[in-house]
Amino acid sequence: MALRKILTEEDETLRKVCRPVTEITDRIRSILDDMADTMHDAGGVGLAAPQVGILRRMFVVQIDPEGPLYELINPQIMETDGEQCGEEGCLSVPGYVGTVTRPNYVKIKGLDRNGNSVEYEGTELLARAFLHENDHLDGILYTQKATDIHYADQDEEQ
Ligand SMILES: [Zn+2]
Repeated sequence: MALRKILTEEDETLRKVCRPVTEITDRIRSILDDMADTMHDAGGVGLAAPQVGILRRMFVVQIDPEGPLYELINPQIMETDGEQCGEEGCLSVPGYVGTVTRPNYVKIKGLDRNGNSVEYEGTELLARAFLHENDHLDGILYTQKATDIHYADQDEEQ
């Protein structure tokens, strides 16, 4: 298990547009492994390569510890539909949440770690995670889209 340092929002790296992965090598697969480890360790549901300082178009998403780990290289949004409005956070903006309106459905395609074409559909949290991570690849943080950004007080719901 190799953990990588997660960059936080003041780092300019997070505002840059990432380049496509041109060749899927063992190094790329190793970065994806580290990204999944880092995401799990931090308790997140998604992590994009620029968050660990790699300006390449790839991310990992896992919304349920028992569910699938999605790895997408050079993702492209194919279709979106509907609307959802909900609270969102980011491992690069620790401690905070904000309200973001996003499509409720997304169809996304890309490559897996072996270079095979893959296509996934997601609704609700999975759609939100795909769209949030995809935004990172274009240098966009959720804080640019959110309203009501506030510290996520653990006692808030009591
Ligand atoms: Zn994020």
